[in-house]
Amino acid sequence: MKVYIKNVKYEYELKMLYHSFSRKEVDFYSISDHIESDKGDYIAIHEESGSNPSTINVSVTSNIDNNNYYYTEVCPDISKEVKNAYKRCLYRVLSSVFNRNLPWGILTGIRPVKIYNELRKTASVLPYLTEDSIKNEISSKHLISDEKIELMKTISNIQKPVIDSINDQSYSIYICIPFCPSRCNYCSFFSNDINKKGHLRDSYIDALETEINSVMQEEWVQGKRLDSIYVGGGTPTALKDYQIEKLMIFLNSKFDFSKIKEITYEAGRPDTITEANLRILKKYGVNRISINPQSMVDETLKKIGRLHNSSEIEQVFNLAREVGFDNINMDIILGLQDEDVTSVRHTLSKIRDLNPDSITMHTLSIKKASTLHQNIDYEELERQEHNIQQMVEIVYECMNNMNFTPYYLYRQKNILGGFENVGFSRPGKESWYNIIIMEELQNILAFGSGSVSRFVYPEENRIEKVTNIRNLEEYINRTQDMVNRKRLEMK
Ligand code: SF4
Repeated sequence: MKVYIKNVKYEYELKMLYHSFSRKEVDFYSISDHIESDKGDYIAIHEESGSNPSTINVSVTSNIDNNNYYYTEVCPDISKEVKNAYKRCLYRVLSSVFNRNLPWGILTGIRPVKIYNELRKTASVLPYLTEDSIKNEISSKHLISDEKIELMKTISNIQKPVIDSINDQSYSIYICIPFCPSRCNYCSFFSNDINKKGHLRDSYIDALETEINSVMQEEWVQGKRLDSIYVGGGTPTALKDYQIEKLMIFLNSKFDFSKIKEITYEAGRPDTITEANLRILKKYGVNRISINPQSMVDETLKKIGRLHNSSEIEQVFNLAREVGFDNINMDIILGLQDEDVTSVRHTLSKIRDLNPDSITMHTLSIKKASTLHQNIDYEELERQEHNIQQMVEIVYECMNNMNFTPYYLYRQKNILGGFENVGFSRPGKESWYNIIIMEELQNILAFGSGSVSRFVYPEENRIEKVTNIRNLEEYINRTQDMVNRKRLEMK
């Protein structure tokens, strides 16, 4: 397929939108490139000044399988609005060609609920902006389905108390432990195999402590309120028991845990969870953990590169309850290799029996850095794309039956069927950190290799990211640089 566009600066997002309909190759050209002589299938998006000088006319013409499509609209002469008009034009043609709509319409961004929250913020000073007009605005601008707008609204309602309690004197902390016992085939995170780099864990913890110590002495952090700590990775339970204990003692010495709303420690891989490390986490104040099976089908676990089976997941989950954890999340992924609707039902029934406090549903997204991408099987992908809607519906139905409510949501590039990732929880067990990171509500100081700090400037509607070095050895040797990077941003 060839797509001709007048303004080539919109190519990237238009390409993403195209690939939400089809994973086949598409070539983009400037509209000045011989469109008149094109005899094959094409789509062309045109742009010209409107009759009113502050408007632009955007239109699309196309010839696909000898069918011609035409659509036009007038939009304000503002780059963001014109880009959306281009996307709507392309969407109209593609939804007609492929005979389907996308649940999230033309939205290619990863934080849909942020749109809803921002419109609600505007509505608080513009009383004529009602819930209905917010819905209409989202629907006409982004072509999002009614069902997904309702989902945005539900999540926005749940998030409101968190949003209201945030101020610029509060922040959260993320700590990255970039070690895993093996590589999952869908993973694109920067993580180190403990069999190759495990010997660096001691020096890594020392470097982490140095980075945290130095940053916490900075003037710009003093007097601020710490709301949550999230230890993620990688697999933080891939540390040895004495290393976890050393880290937890250090964190307890730096922060008053009794005043922090949430301290999450990802215990992602069941093959790294033991009674001993769970007891250490409990003893030092961790109040939320995440055990992430992704699937409860043993064959799938083998295929994705896990070194454990489903009954081990059940054992460690029960162990965590016995140790006293009353806030446990479980992650699942829909669309894993060779899985079908029956596999998803099986996984959900097993997880339902365990009765966790929250469940995060991910829809598979094929990341370039994953081994899945390197060995991509397009036939399998097409099959999964076909099944994904039913899988997603089954999860929503199950969450509803469990009285779990969606509380945060995000989307990713190349996500199957253009769907979403959603965190569901029982009331009161919503993760604070998940909400603030997805909605970009407060500063996050991130420590450790590959971690990304986020500095939020709400007045200027601006977020700045400060990234730490990914390479483990470099991070250990250049820890002070990581402190300087954050200081530069905060000066
Ligand atoms: S456990 Fe998580 S971070 Fe580690 S390889 Fe698997 S998906 Fe990636």
